[in-house]
Amino acid sequence: MKQNDEAWEAVNWDLDFGSFEWMVHLAACFNRHLPAGAPWTEWPEWSTDMPGWVQDKNRPGWLSALRLIHTHPRIAVKKSVVSVTSSHGITRELEDVDVSSRWWHVNVNIDWNVPRPLVAALDELHGPSPSHAFVPGQMEQLCLGVDDDSVSYGLGLSSVLQAMLDEVVLLSQATNFHAARCRFCHETTYREGLRGQGFPPGKEVLFACGSCTGEPLTN
Ligand SMILES: [Zn+2]
Repeated sequence: MKQNDEAWEAVNWDLDFGSFEWMVHLAACFNRHLPAGAPWTEWPEWSTDMPGWVQDKNRPGWLSALRLIHTHPRIAVKKSVVSVTSSHGITRELEDVDVSSRWWHVNVNIDWNVPRPLVAALDELHGPSPSHAFVPGQMEQLCLGVDDDSVSYGLGLSSVLQAMLDEVVLLSQATNFHAARCRFCHETTYREGLRGQGFPPGKEVLFACGSCTGEPLTN
């Protein structure tokens, strides 16, 4: 097919065939004949020794993620690292991205104090909350993805990238925490969820901490 011959002619063979960058590039080559604003429709014909086998039903989701990465001015891919610069100019990276990835770790990478305009935007979105003012160590790394087996992991990646593009969306997750106190040892900490509950001191949400229950600490 002529269209595919032209796609292969555009390929940069210097890229690492095992990398996610290669997948993005190859998909871009196979969809280069489409108008600039059109969704990608062509799944690249790569041979079986290349990475990234994806079931037919999940391919449209991956094509939309690959297109977002290729076309968005604030998203870049180098080898298997995807970097995204947010609406407020903070660049964050997703590492080891491939088509079997379902969950991604995102370092929030912001000072303890959330900048005032962002606090105002979070208050607007969720109602005023004391948790909007800062990001504690417990929330510095977010685990993002889609908790639904029927959704293409590619669509999951797109939603993670969209969150990383919009500082307010990402900080909505990073500031969704509460103040907690162990009912046994009375140690206080911050825990994910229950946005803004357990403030001020003395009003913490009670829980049983890992050392008191003998369970391995998970956060
Ligand atoms: Zn305890």
